[in-house]
Amino acid sequence: MIFVSLGQNIMLKIQENYSLNNLTTIKVGGAASFFARVKNVNELKEALEYAHHHSLNIFVISGGSNVVVSEHGFHGLAIQININGFEVIRENKQQAVLKIGAGEVWDKVVKRAVANGWWGIENLSWIPGRIGACAVQNSGAYGQEISDVIDEIKALEIASGKIKIFKKDKCEYGYRQSVFNTRIAGKFIIVEVVLKLSKKENLKIDYPDVKKYFKERSLEQPSLRQIRQAIIYTRSNKLPDMSKVGNAGSFFKNVMISRSEFQGLVKNLEKNFGQSEADKAVELKEKFKIAGGVKIPTAWLIDICGLKGTQVGYVKVYEKQPLVLVTEPSKATADEVMRLFRKVRQAVYQKTGMKLLPEPRLVGFTDEELEGYFKLDENRYS
Ligand SMILES: Cc1cc2nc3c(=O)[nH]c(=O)nc-3n(C[C@H](O)[C@H](O)[C@H](O)COP(=O)(O)OP(=O)(O)OC[C@H]3O[C@@H](n4cnc5c(N)ncnc54)[C@H](O)[C@@H]3O)c2cc1C
Repeated sequence: MIFVSLGQNIMLKIQENYSLNNLTTIKVGGAASFFARVKNVNELKEALEYAHHHSLNIFVISGGSNVVVSEHGFHGLAIQININGFEVIRENKQQAVLKIGAGEVWDKVVKRAVANGWWGIENLSWIPGRIGACAVQNSGAYGQEISDVIDEIKALEIASGKIKIFKKDKCEYGYRQSVFNTRIAGKFIIVEVVLKLSKKENLKIDYPDVKKYFKERSLEQPSLRQIRQAIIYTRSNKLPDMSKVGNAGSFFKNVMISRSEFQGLVKNLEKNFGQSEADKAVELKEKFKIAGGVKIPTAWLIDICGLKGTQVGYVKVYEKQPLVLVTEPSKATADEVMRLFRKVRQAVYQKTGMKLLPEPRLVGFTDEELEGYFKLDENRYS
């Protein structure tokens, strides 16, 4: 154990050879050479100073629900963001503006918003993780995304140690992406998020599962609380029990393609699965309309390729939701997770021509390993 002095008898604890396996929800992977938990910006700066002084790479982890760490672990300093804080900074009849520490657990934020009658994030109930990471990944579900309600983000620039403010329009939000995981990935650490929530009702209950839930209960104008209940009910029926198995939520991103690539997909579906699946693709294209392109649910592609339940070692494609890979804790390895990823990716490519991409961040893998996991056998594409 190493202690770094922050003055006035405050010490930042840095632990050596710290297992990251249990800090992730997929429960695989090795240790970080060094590990620190930071509770405020000063501690974060000290941790960064320590890494700079010892020429260590940095890996930022929050709730660990969207990362896969390799079996070799991470060679450098892993920093867990435990910066808390929740404050209403402005409020009027229309809206509430909230300043929230990056380490606050996301679902606690949602629960509080719902209890206060603030609209805009109720459909994002029960997404694991912390708000800082949600703002990086632009977490979304059931027709809402966190970017819909972000006002601004406060982030620490690693190189300069300076705090910078990013107004929402500078965050370059897209599907599961922001400037923080694309153009300036690895350069900033989010320390605070400002959300603007509405006090006016804004129902978004069109998603089939949610619609069905309310129809069955004859509820046309559900309250915020009822929407949260519906989302939790729906998610708990679809997603695995995290106390029993490991997983990182959706392992595969949905397919976003151009209109011409879509024509190729339709041809492949017709050839390999018949006219009905080709028609279904057209139907799905209409249902999930996006600007300038086509979105196809990857869960459907994996399903029609017959891959539900496919297994590599102690890792399996979850039957109820094939986007999810479930692991047996203490037995599964990161290599098994990635070999199953490769297997699904190859099979879907062979039948549909689509190249699936992972949603979680992959940490500590060598370039050669990644090349192997992502390599597609073009000869087997029919
Ligand atoms: C059962 C389950 C269900 C899920 N459902 C959904 C869903 O419906 N929708 C959805 O979008 N996601 C979903 N996810 C994925 C995940 O919960 C979200 O991506 C979440 O935002 C990740 O938060 P985290 O704190 O766990 O991030 P981590 O896994 O710790 O980190 C994710 C990435 O963000 C970076 N990061 C973390 N904190 C910071 C910070 N403060 N500053 C800069 N970079 C940072 C990390 O380096 C890493 O690259 C699900 C996951 C699980 C396990």
